[in-house]
Amino acid sequence: MKKKNWTDYLWIWPIVYFTLGFFNILFAWLGMIDFILPLIIAVLGGGKAFCNRYCGRGKLFAFIPRILGKENKKVAPTWMYSKYFRYGFLAFFMTMFGNMVYQTYLVFAGSRSLRAAIKLFWTFKVPFKWAYTVTAVPEWVTHYSYGFYSLMLTSTLIGFILMALYRPRTWCAFCPMGTMTQGICKIKKKTR
Ligand code: SF4
Repeated sequence: MKKKNWTDYLWIWPIVYFTLGFFNILFAWLGMIDFILPLIIAVLGGGKAFCNRYCGRGKLFAFIPRILGKENKKVAPTWMYSKYFRYGFLAFFMTMFGNMVYQTYLVFAGSRSLRAAIKLFWTFKVPFKWAYTVTAVPEWVTHYSYGFYSLMLTSTLIGFILMALYRPRTWCAFCPMGTMTQGICKIKKKTR
């Protein structure tokens, strides 16, 4: 049997992350690690090491079907793997992220109030007031937390749906972080 490495247990990370955020939304900021680290690794020449070794979410998608003994072998439709869809989804995702940052700026500037709710699938507002337990921090910090937690939860839920319908890590075919790190690797290769 293959000896386990510490990275094999990283599937625990998303569970810890969502649990902490469920009780205190400020923990949502920890998700920035998953946002920034893959880019830093790719820029520093580590290629797709984050996806291949350190991504807790990718590991969780692979882990759940394995322990349930129900690994779906169905391949997702080819358009999901296409360049157009991957870059289109990246553009959509970054637009939503940019809008969230802008809304946070509005809270910072005092022109809109804090929304103590998460937004699932960029559409459904779910009240999440109980997670707003630290009122000592500026409201924009909390607002960003709600926005970022919504983004992380939505993308993970999409990943779970795809995991159930197709092969476990189908989300990785068009995950924005995967697309961005791949883009960085391509640029680095061309400029070498
Ligand atoms: S593609 Fe996204 S979810 Fe998949 S391993 Fe990479 S960063 Fe993680």
